[in-house]
Amino acid sequence: MRYIDITMPLGPGTPVYPGDPPVIMEPISAPDGGDRYALSRLSLGTHAGTHVDPPAHFVPGGATVEALPLEVLIGPALVAEAAAGQPVEAATITALPVAERLLLRTGGAPLTEGAARALVARGVRLVGVDGLSVAPDERPGPVHHILLGAGVVVVEGLALAGVTPGAYTLICLPLRLEGGDGAPVRAVLAPGGDAATLTRWAL
Ligand SMILES: [Zn+2]
Repeated sequence: MRYIDITMPLGPGTPVYPGDPPVIMEPISAPDGGDRYALSRLSLGTHAGTHVDPPAHFVPGGATVEALPLEVLIGPALVAEAAAGQPVEAATITALPVAERLLLRTGGAPLTEGAARALVARGVRLVGVDGLSVAPDERPGPVHHILLGAGVVVVEGLALAGVTPGAYTLICLPLRLEGGDGAPVRAVLAPGGDAATLTRWAL
């Protein structure tokens, strides 16, 4: 089995959403060949690099990251190409095969509110994008509220360049941060999700 890593490398060079804290890895000690060992202090925002948005990110009192169901974070997923550089419209979503998990190569472009509503209407339970936000930077609220309010898991900052559109199995595991409003994930695709399982949940 050959897995495809769709996780952004996480380090000082990782791009972060405007205004978010940078990723800092500060060495605390270094090995000396004897009993001393390497250890670093890690400082980062909960939405650094490839990460998940739980409902609590926008919905007051919403579920936090450790409550996201593993059954949604792991399973058959469709990788699809959306018009690169243009906001993704509802028509793009409705033209795609129905899938419980949908990863969109948008070239960093956001979804429109119509696209978010179309995802909810189609029963999508997880949507992932390659941009650092699923919503337009100037007005992030509505798209997040539509998706997170409906319990759709949002994954942002996926490294999808070079991934051939098609059916895969997604494994996307966030850090189990207690009360987390988001968390970095390690996301990988295994080839060979089959079309029957893709549509099973959403019919
Ligand atoms: Zn986020």
